[in-house]
Amino acid sequence: MLQITPIKAFDDNYIWALRNPGASTAVAVDPGDETPLLNWLQENSLTLSAVLLTHHHYDHVGGVPELREAFPDLKVFGPAGESIKGVTEPLHEGDRPLIPGLDADFQVLELPGHTAGHIAYLGEQALFCGDTLFAAGCGRVFDGTMTQLANSLQRIAQLPAETKIYCAHEYTLDNLGFARWVEPESEAVMQRIDSEQAKRQNGEPTLPSTLQLELATNPFLRTQVPSIVTAAEKVAGKTLTDHAEIFMVIRQWKDREYD
Ligand SMILES: [Zn+2]
Repeated sequence: MLQITPIKAFDDNYIWALRNPGASTAVAVDPGDETPLLNWLQENSLTLSAVLLTHHHYDHVGGVPELREAFPDLKVFGPAGESIKGVTEPLHEGDRPLIPGLDADFQVLELPGHTAGHIAYLGEQALFCGDTLFAAGCGRVFDGTMTQLANSLQRIAQLPAETKIYCAHEYTLDNLGFARWVEPESEAVMQRIDSEQAKRQNGEPTLPSTLQLELATNPFLRTQVPSIVTAAEKVAGKTLTDHAEIFMVIRQWKDREYD
């Protein structure tokens, strides 16, 4: 059983630290800033054996050069389809990387859309999905396409419902405000707002989420649900039948009027 710890970085990023119980090494996902991670490693008397990167954005990779200096044997896994300084182990769809210092089996999923080469790590009933899926939301489209992101989210939707979702930002309450715009009648969204607010008031992260909860409350995973289709058609002013088009209407609605 892996121990998975959120380490706060910047305003609202989480660096996820993974380790086996009793191990002297840890692995970090998306260390955008080395300082909070180095502090945490020191507090826990751990060394860093590997880094897993999901995509090239600075707030996910910015700590890599300093971490490689601090740990010269560090293995840095990242997407083969993106140019990221410091990656030593480029990964493709279906790869099962041998991660030093961690007894865990992860499989690589290519999930483009937020960026063109974005990958995620699936294993141990967990998905480390970077900025593709957020709790109650999803990433914006930068150098990928809307259709890519729509298809990547549909792919996530097919994973086992108990999969824990470890995304990289604490955007949950903000995203739920938009989910309520889209589905004002949804009991599940209202209940989730209450429970996530309680966590934030206690200073706790709202993550990880579960895919089951996302399927019930995240508008971007619900593009086949009648209430979402109706909301998208109202915004678009026409009938919509294609899931990627429904996704695009909702994503652009959020970009335009909510964010
Ligand atoms: Zn990003």
